[in-house]
Amino acid sequence: MFHDTASVLFGVEGLQVTDADEGADGTVEVWAVTDYRAAAACPGCGTVSGRVHETVVTRPRDVRRAGDVVDLRWVKVRRKCENPQCPRKTFTEWVPAVPPRCRVTARLREQAGHEVTERGITPAEAARHAGISWPSAHDAFAAAADRLLDRPAVPVRHLGIDEHRRGRARFAVDAQTGEYTVLADRWHTCFFDLDGQQGLLGQGQGRTADDAAYWLAGAVPAWRDAVQVVCIDMCSIYAAAVRRMLPCAVLAVDLFHVVQLAVKAVGDVRRRVVRARYGRRGRSGDPEYGIKGLLVRNLEHLTGAQFTKIIDTLDRDRYGQEIAAAWIGKEKLRDALNLRARLTGSTPCERQVRDRLFSFYDWCAQHDDIPELITLAATISRWEDEIVAAVLTGITNATSESLNRLAKLEARLAYGFRNPLNQQRRVRIACTRGYRRQSPTATKNRTRTVTGRKPDPG
Ligand SMILES: [Zn+2]
Repeated sequence: MFHDTASVLFGVEGLQVTDADEGADGTVEVWAVTDYRAAAACPGCGTVSGRVHETVVTRPRDVRRAGDVVDLRWVKVRRKCENPQCPRKTFTEWVPAVPPRCRVTARLREQAGHEVTERGITPAEAARHAGISWPSAHDAFAAAADRLLDRPAVPVRHLGIDEHRRGRARFAVDAQTGEYTVLADRWHTCFFDLDGQQGLLGQGQGRTADDAAYWLAGAVPAWRDAVQVVCIDMCSIYAAAVRRMLPCAVLAVDLFHVVQLAVKAVGDVRRRVVRARYGRRGRSGDPEYGIKGLLVRNLEHLTGAQFTKIIDTLDRDRYGQEIAAAWIGKEKLRDALNLRARLTGSTPCERQVRDRLFSFYDWCAQHDDIPELITLAATISRWEDEIVAAVLTGITNATSESLNRLAKLEARLAYGFRNPLNQQRRVRIACTRGYRRQSPTATKNRTRTVTGRKPDPG
């Protein structure tokens, strides 16, 4: 309960401001005394004491006032306990905003923790601004973050898995053989909620099938049963972990990575052919070099002139026709992927997708003199079920990739982490911040209306 304007403005319950003055270096000097009834009670026996032993001045750190540092000087009384049986002879006053032995006000701790949690600055920066040490700022952040993160997991329908490297790989050179041996190559496997509001669900250390399975085994069975689709990159390690721990979930691979593989195959063929034809690597001025940017584009996004340029360049000789065969192979694969509902406006049937994939395999078989196409076809056929699942469900790993970028950014902001648990906490807070910020009026479940492709303005 405050009695005067200055104390109301200062706003720490239990402290009464007696004087305020301009201090040195633009600081504000605030003098205060205790105005808290319970402060006169002995913490040992609860007897209210009126006997003053001595008066001390403490200077707990407090939040800034309009950017200026506040130099708080709290005149405290040390009292004698009036109960002769009490083992405590004397005690000092304290208020809830500044607990005993605490040299930082509770609101400054809370502010430092909140700034790291919600504003995304580092604990080091928060500590510098608050004028406290890094451990204090980090403890405040950990307390605030754990309150947010220690919530029971909500069931997830679509789960994403991705990995990122934790720090730099370390190598040592063998003195005798001169060979490199890996000392440390640390990874985090991350699990994402692809269609809900939970962002990054958690991380496991390492990136083997066992590491991923271990994290999944830590979830309750009901949570595991609720997972319907798991989306991964084309990574057989995570596929093995998912089949082991989530046998009922449908496994889908991210279609971006499928197309990326096909585009890479076209590039490989082009580079090999150019080397065979000229005996050197491609240069600007070579016709094949001039269309390399066009070959990676989607067929439907090429203008008429660009399409003609590709055909004219590749139709000249057998070298060009080899590149053309790879390019057509890529487009045949994309034909199958383009059946997804997001582009066509209606859910495809499985037969349709497999038919188009068959025509891709057929094309590759007809051009079995191109090794890159054969490798591509073999990889695609190995992942066929997962690709079909991705086309039918339309689920992508886009959320995983974007959150993974945030995870890497967090490690850069921190200049690397020494403690993996601190890293996990910081990364999880960063990867759930966007979801926490959403206004309460925002649509809870993001639904994507199927609109089909936009009409070509040309
Ligand atoms: Zn006492």
